[in-house]
Amino acid sequence: MAMTITEFQASAREFVAEAITQNIPQWEQEGTYPLDLHNRAADWKLLQLGHDDYDQMLADAERQAFWLAELTRAGSQAMAMGLASHMVSLTALRHGNQQVFEDVAEQVVSGEKLIVMALTEPGAGSDLRAISSRVEQHCDGSLHFSGEKKFICNGSRADFFITAAYYQNELSLFLVEREPETTHADDLHCIGWYGLPVSSITFTNARAALIGEVGEAAKILRKALAKERLNLAVMSNASAKSILEYAGKYSTERMVQGKPLYKKQAILHKIATMSTQLKVSEAYVEKCFQALKERDLTDEETCIAKNFAVAALEEAANQCVHICGAAGCLQHTLVERTYRDAKILSLGGGSTEIMNEIIGRGLLRPFIKMKD
Ligand SMILES: Cc1cc2nc3c(=O)[nH]c(=O)nc-3n(C[C@H](O)[C@H](O)[C@H](O)COP(=O)(O)OP(=O)(O)OC[C@H]3O[C@@H](n4cnc5c(N)ncnc54)[C@H](O)[C@@H]3O)c2cc1C
Repeated sequence: MAMTITEFQASAREFVAEAITQNIPQWEQEGTYPLDLHNRAADWKLLQLGHDDYDQMLADAERQAFWLAELTRAGSQAMAMGLASHMVSLTALRHGNQQVFEDVAEQVVSGEKLIVMALTEPGAGSDLRAISSRVEQHCDGSLHFSGEKKFICNGSRADFFITAAYYQNELSLFLVEREPETTHADDLHCIGWYGLPVSSITFTNARAALIGEVGEAAKILRKALAKERLNLAVMSNASAKSILEYAGKYSTERMVQGKPLYKKQAILHKIATMSTQLKVSEAYVEKCFQALKERDLTDEETCIAKNFAVAALEEAANQCVHICGAAGCLQHTLVERTYRDAKILSLGGGSTEIMNEIIGRGLLRPFIKMKD
């Protein structure tokens, strides 16, 4: 039976407190969280956001935001990427064959299998038109995917990949299933998100299924990427809130010249400024979720939400480490981890500059001639 929102929120909180929070330092040091965490989260119906119906699950932005924030507040953005980003992949897959979607969704929300988005290539990040992966049709009609994808979260242990390639000279979206003989992964080590394996994946003639129509990659990804960008804004806000609390508390305990640190106006004003940025960011993201419910969220709004939230987090991470002094530079403290993780958010899901392109063009659209 489907959970009510209150039941879902209580379960999400309890699961994160019980199964995740205390393990973050160990998983960060080991470079991965255990795969069976997906099964455990599935047992609590959290991977399906407490819904039985997949369309309701994908449409429930409120629960998705809550789940992401709880996972992030556990102390690492890696957990949010690991246990909540399947919603973005499934949003893209929803445009494909209904039976395939249902089969894959069932295996993913039951924690049996992992699905990831694998778009980026060594030569194509922001500019997906530069993708060099190719799909070919064999004599028996089957489609086969060849190419290299890079910086893929959970790539080394994913079972399904939503990925893009040129097929019949058009950029199209595909579902590829891992097979040992066609899929090879190499680990990469990034600046942050230590608890999440990131990989380079080489596909050689891997069986592929077209999602949507030939040439529809951009159209389908637009919706999925909008969801990803809002997710990253939620993660930014949740991280900023955690480190503000951490550094704020530190400033009340750390004594300088016989008084708590926060009594220095320079420190108190830093905290006030960060708090202001966070509140504004939270309010804007909330407005975006409201618009999403009413189905009139624009690409520009999504990009503004991501850019503002990420910039607020980057500044907060920098300042919170500073407020904590050398103690903030210690490895595996919350502020140190968040300082490293924050950098990734301004690149992943579309970089700050790409967001600005969309925002700027949106604003100028009425004035730009068609030929521009
Ligand atoms: C930890 C991590 C996890 C990731 N996980 C995934 C994943 O699971 N799946 C996936 O597909 N990808 C993933 N990525 C890749 C991510 O989506 C890309 O890093 C991002 O799209 C940017 O591409 P790029 O790194 O190739 O940078 P580039 O596109 O080469 O950009 C380099 C710089 O140039 C700037 N730039 C590019 N174009 C313009 C422009 N038109 N105008 C002005 N400036 C521009 C960019 O903003 C950036 O600062 C991940 C990345 C990281 C670091």
